[in-house]
Amino acid sequence: MRKHDGNCLFCKIIDKKIPAYMVQDGEHAAAFLDITPRTMGHTLVIPKYHAATLADLPDGEIGPFFSAVKSVATLLGDKLGADGLTIGMNQGEASGQVVGHLHVHILPRFKDDGGGAIQSVVHRTPVLSLQEVLRKINSQ
Ligand code: AMP
Ligand code: ZN
Repeated sequence: MRKHDGNCLFCKIIDKKIPAYMVQDGEHAAAFLDITPRTMGHTLVIPKYHAATLADLPDGEIGPFFSAVKSVATLLGDKLGADGLTIGMNQGEASGQVVGHLHVHILPRFKDDGGGAIQSVVHRTPVLSLQEVLRKINSQ
């Protein structure tokens, strides 16, 4: 399935209206090198369906999208000799999302590359206990 937004940067990349260093171009997803790489092989994987967030992506697109994340992650790990990978997404302005077409960042990681773990993106001590948080999550 395809949903398109004519004003979206990543939809334009899908449509080849803007060039990109395409790593993989499948029926449901595409992967290309980030134009401002944080490390060698920094790649973005996007669904071909225009959705800003995971919640906006139809259930039927979730499987094929994460399948592409898996295959690109495996490819980068194998071909670039990475020691590990950081895989994640910014969702919403507060998290640092700039492009409103959902994308997973895959960052090949190398021993002693100076980067941190994904938990290091934020450090704000919660005011609620774990039990209180869980109650909130599970409330009707
Ligand atoms: P985010 O903050 O998660 O929305 O990240 C958007 C990412 O898209 C950034 O890492 C940018 O470097 C990257 N980006 C922006 N424009 C392009 C482009 N034309 N081709 C490839 N990557 C891009
Ligand atoms: Zn789009």
